[in-house]
Amino acid sequence: MFNAFQENTYIISDETKECVIVDPGCYDDHEKKELSDYISENQLRVKMLLNTHCHIDHILGNEFVKQKYGSNLYLHKTEVFVLNAQKILASHYGFNLYQPATPDNYLNEGDLIEFGTQKFSVLFVPGHSPGHIAFYSEKEKVVLAGDVLFLNSVGRTDLPGGNHNTLIDSIHKKLFTLPDDVTVYPGHGNETTIGVEKRTNPFCALTLR
Ligand SMILES: [Zn+2]
Ligand SMILES: [Zn+2]
Repeated sequence: MFNAFQENTYIISDETKECVIVDPGCYDDHEKKELSDYISENQLRVKMLLNTHCHIDHILGNEFVKQKYGSNLYLHKTEVFVLNAQKILASHYGFNLYQPATPDNYLNEGDLIEFGTQKFSVLFVPGHSPGHIAFYSEKEKVVLAGDVLFLNSVGRTDLPGGNHNTLIDSIHKKLFTLPDDVTVYPGHGNETTIGVEKRTNPFCALTLR
């Protein structure tokens, strides 16, 4: 958990020691060391750097990861204007040492992220942010949902490019079509499952649509 926004950074690895880093929110030296210590202690090889979306709390460590591991940055093309806007917004949030990183590749719905023996498919889930994507592994039964769906909550939609109806649509048409026993790893807070959120999430009840 990194930075003042308590953002969840994920490092997904398997027995081959290959890994991908998702949304590196590490900002200060202590947080960067925590990330790099984890990588070195587990002897991981970083294959890719992925962003679910480009709000400042999810991208603070992008340039650090790119420089340290030489990894390419992948995100959705629609998210580039959000990424560029953070150059100015960072200092408003007090992140004066933010180093912008440039994307190397773009991801689209249906693309496959492959590393080690793992395959994650890309889901396009806009609403919280216009180019928001999620990463789903059918085999591992996990989805990294960024700031779309939280334990009993959903992402805010009052930031530029946000749209509440689009968000709820993304949840119903993409996330809620996954099996109930899929674990949701969100960008903030604790994990949950698709089944639990279908039953108890107050923002996603069908009657509210
Ligand atoms: Zn966000
Ligand atoms: Zn966030």
